[in-house]
Amino acid sequence: MDSYLIIAENSGVDLSFIYNYPVKIQFDNLPKDSEGTGDYLGFALGKDDNELVHIVIDYQYWSSMNDLQKTQLLYHELSHDILNAKHVSDETHLMHPNSEFKNIPMLIVAMTQIFKQFKESF
Ligand SMILES: [Zn+2]
Repeated sequence: MDSYLIIAENSGVDLSFIYNYPVKIQFDNLPKDSEGTGDYLGFALGKDDNELVHIVIDYQYWSSMNDLQKTQLLYHELSHDILNAKHVSDETHLMHPNSEFKNIPMLIVAMTQIFKQFKESF
């Protein structure tokens, strides 16, 4: 969460207002779709409420993930919630539902790209 805000700041996006709102990251057993894939690893319950950050993560998936995947999932869901980011078809983009990054630097580059787009849309 803090690293997310630091990347935002370094990209010229001030998200410090988030500290004024409740931030809830909850682990739960989410319903699985038939293929066992999709975006049900987690979702952003607070995405339509700008004064709340509320993310739900499936604990079963979470426990099978490595640190990179966990970080990526959190960043993805935080981007839905805080930036109101939507899914994209570009697989190298963090907001692609099944995007996967090989390492942390690549993930950070992808985040920087999202913040840049966010900045340009306002
Ligand atoms: Zn998503």
